[in-house]
Amino acid sequence: MDTDQKYMKQALTQAKRAAAIGEVPIGCVIVYEGRVIARGYNRRTTHHSALAHAEILAIKKACRMLGDWRLEGCTMYVTLEPCPMCAGAIVQARMDRVVMGTKNPKAGCAGSVLNLLQTEGLNHRVEITEGVLEESCRDILQTFFRELRERLRAEKQAHPPVAVSDGAMSAVDGAKDGKPVES
Ligand SMILES: [Zn+2]
Repeated sequence: MDTDQKYMKQALTQAKRAAAIGEVPIGCVIVYEGRVIARGYNRRTTHHSALAHAEILAIKKACRMLGDWRLEGCTMYVTLEPCPMCAGAIVQARMDRVVMGTKNPKAGCAGSVLNLLQTEGLNHRVEITEGVLEESCRDILQTFFRELRERLRAEKQAHPPVAVSDGAMSAVDGAKDGKPVES
C-alpha cells in the first residue's frame, strides 16, 4: 500500500464514523510533514449546519494545530470530491495538494462541475490526485444510500398512510420532503 492509499484509508475511517451516526459518509484527513494533523467527517445533520462538511471541520482543526490560516505544505485526503464551499476553503487555505477517492459528478468542484482548485486567475492552485481507493470510497456511499432507502421503505410499510379523502391523498402523493405541494 503506498502513502496516498495509507492516508486515504484513514479518511475512509472518518467516513465510517459519519455513517455510524447516520450522516452521509464523507471523511478526510490533513497531512503535514508526514503526519496527520487533522481529521474530519461530515456532521451536517448533527450540527444543523450546511457548513459542517468533513473538509471544513478538518481545515479548522489543522489551522488551530499549525497556528496559521495558511496550510501551505499540507495535503488533504478526502473520500469524495469537494463541493464548491470546500474547494473554495481549500484554495483560501493555500493547501498544496488534494487527494480524492471518488468523483462527485453532481457537485464536485475539483474537475467534475467546476475546477475551483485549478482556476486560472486565482492566486493559488492546488495539485489534484484522483481515484485513490476509489472503489471503497464509492462503495461506502452507495451502501449508505441503499440502506437508507431500505429503511425508509420498511418504515413506510410499518406505518402505511392513514386513509383520508381522495383530495387530501393526492396532496400527500405529490408532497416532497414532507411538505405538501401548493395547489
Ligand atoms: Zn463540502
